[in-house]
Amino acid sequence: MEDDNKIKISADRLWSDLNEVGKIGYSEGRGVTRTALSDADLEAKEWLSQKMKSAGLDVRIDAATNIIGLLETAKTRPAKILAIGSHLDTVPSGGMFDGALGVVAALECARVIKEHGIKLPWDIEVINFSDEEAAHNAGTVGSRAMIGQLTAKEIYVSKAKGIPPFSEDMKRMGKDPERIGEAARDPKIFEAVLELHIEQGNRLYTEGIQIGAVTGIVGIYRYGVTVKGEANHAGTTPMHLRDDALVKAAPVFTLLPQWVRARSKEMVGTIGQVTVEPGATNVIPGNCSFIVELRSMKRKDMVAIRDVLHEWVGSQQGCTMKTIYEKDSVKLSEQVIDAIATAAEAEGMSYIRMPSGAGHDTQSFAPFVPCGMIFVPCKEGKSHCPQEWIEPHQAADGCQVLLRTVLELAKRAER
Ligand SMILES: [Zn+2]
Repeated sequence: MEDDNKIKISADRLWSDLNEVGKIGYSEGRGVTRTALSDADLEAKEWLSQKMKSAGLDVRIDAATNIIGLLETAKTRPAKILAIGSHLDTVPSGGMFDGALGVVAALECARVIKEHGIKLPWDIEVINFSDEEAAHNAGTVGSRAMIGQLTAKEIYVSKAKGIPPFSEDMKRMGKDPERIGEAARDPKIFEAVLELHIEQGNRLYTEGIQIGAVTGIVGIYRYGVTVKGEANHAGTTPMHLRDDALVKAAPVFTLLPQWVRARSKEMVGTIGQVTVEPGATNVIPGNCSFIVELRSMKRKDMVAIRDVLHEWVGSQQGCTMKTIYEKDSVKLSEQVIDAIATAAEAEGMSYIRMPSGAGHDTQSFAPFVPCGMIFVPCKEGKSHCPQEWIEPHQAADGCQVLLRTVLELAKRAER
């Protein structure tokens, strides 16, 4: 068998692919806009299908519009699948690496494995998951559909007026929404799922570390809070007779960060969306609603802050709170994390084990399939913006560790 040290990805080919796909949906000063199932996303999907075909992969588009490229590498049949993927869709005015790096790197790994004629204990699938970024409603649509965790009715709902639901847009690819359930696959067919991604935070960047072996993905709890007051004329209502909803809500905007910081170092809490109604300069706010988001690996910390928030809400007149959702954190596979660490070491790269503060497609699979994620640093930790950037050597480092992890997992499977 070939020496693993000699099996190298092509940094040039990887960078050139990243730049090609990075042009799709790009506009000067506004970054990349390739929202799921938009014209640009369809173009990127087509680009990927062609690239996969010319790499010798067997390409199909499943019932949820995921693109799957199969490379038959198994020594024996029937064979399990090692899936490697991410997403090509972006947020509006996003960057060219979030998601795309993982897809393009997966393709590069498949190419190298094929070129070297490497046989593995399983087949490889390169996957582009559809609508990771929540363009229509909730995100990670494609990955959840694939693992059978998508509730069929959610694809008929859109998150805001003027945005078509996923069900409507999937018809653009000739897919029948009624049949989206057919995308579901038995978790047992997967040996593991791997994803390379930019960190989207500044830990690796600040500490100058090449690779993050992701230990888990944080849970997210979101609550909608509404404070009622009384709308009235801003000029004629004296201060002592006002029932201003915004003023009543205001203390919680500074209390929340205090509660969170007092509770845990690794937890974060954000109020990023506030609506004041009727929302006019000359009207006292009659209604103030906002969303509280908590993220942590630890359920008990999020529950504790939820309870404190609940208590605060109860102490305010005309204040109510409802749960939008509570998604617990997931742990990634110890075996796969260990294989990633071994791969980074073998490639002579610095690495740390770290949790992910952002959600990813891998999260959908983690409760059912052994999963691993590899992070590379991104400039100043910026993402979901046009300034999102990684250097060519950072992309190559991540891709090389991804490939080495596949080889390492193969070695372990054969032991
Ligand atoms: Zn992403």
